Amino acid sequence: MMWWVSLIQRAAKYSITIIWWIFRFSTWPLYRFFSFAVRIGSIGPSGNTVSVGLINQGATCFLNTLLQTWFLTPEVKQSIYKLNSNVAFVHELQSLFNKLESKEEKYVRTNELTMSLQLNVFKQLDIEEFFRNLINKLNAEVGQGDNILKLYQITMVQSMKCSVCEEPVTEDCFFLDLPLSILSPDSSSEIKSLEESLKMFLEAVTLDYDNAPYCDTCNKKTKTKTRYYFKQLPQLLTFQLKRFGIASNGKHYQKIHPQISIPLTLQFNKSMDNANEWCFKPTTAKKKENSFRSKTAYLIMYRRESSENQDNDSQNCPLISGADAGYR
Ligand SMILES: [Zn+2]
Repeated sequence: MMWWVSLIQRAAKYSITIIWWIFRFSTWPLYRFFSFAVRIGSIGPSGNTVSVGLINQGATCFLNTLLQTWFLTPEVKQSIYKLNSNVAFVHELQSLFNKLESKEEKYVRTNELTMSLQLNVFKQLDIEEFFRNLINKLNAEVGQGDNILKLYQITMVQSMKCSVCEEPVTEDCFFLDLPLSILSPDSSSEIKSLEESLKMFLEAVTLDYDNAPYCDTCNKKTKTKTRYYFKQLPQLLTFQLKRFGIASNGKHYQKIHPQISIPLTLQFNKSMDNANEWCFKPTTAKKKENSFRSKTAYLIMYRRESSENQDNDSQNCPLISGADAGYR
């Protein structure tokens, strides 16, 4: 049986092509053999037409999703082509991309790549975990220069202030993707939008009692206010929606399906108070064409509109345009 990933292509107001993949999150049976293909009208600034699919070997939907997303993201594709390595999985990845590029075949097999990665093709993996693992494996094959990890790496600062000595402490933290809640902290209600969830992630919280951290100045655990903020925004900004919750019997995790609104664009401004801080600017835009709703979206990737050193420009607001890649 053939499954086609639906594509909705929209011209964003800033003329960036949006690619939107929707994958059912849980309703597809495991171990079902099916051909998997992606039809995409056009992508990115280059406008390349893509019409080559990837064959699913069993439960490799997560792999195909990530590979198509990477192939359609010019920065990532070039980064992979540039890799100069004799390691088998790198060679197979480059070979696969060459086949997708050549369009000589309608569908391409991923068998050689999965063998080189020693993947069990009948075991469904978490795409977010696989994404991180593969990025780290690729990063190990290159030096400190232009590499795929840097395209995704988010630099955040964790800022902490002890309530007793009021000594501010900051520490840089690095993320490949930010985990966002889709439920309120007490799980009593659903969060309506990715913007709302991101805003909540960035809010200051007070750590007290068992959660109180140790203060080096006071030499004891103290009530502390803490928050995260963006220090450097990557070219590709990725979020993971936390679609796993504890089952009612309290014994295992289960997938949860609250519907959430996902904006097609995100905007950040430089802080007026701190030159090292990018502030998230939620829109008030309620128009349907500026967002979509999904009960299944899981890993969301936004691509920055321009890479022209905007971190150093306090006047320009970088716009990050979105693509949603999920998994089943
Ligand atoms: Zn203190």
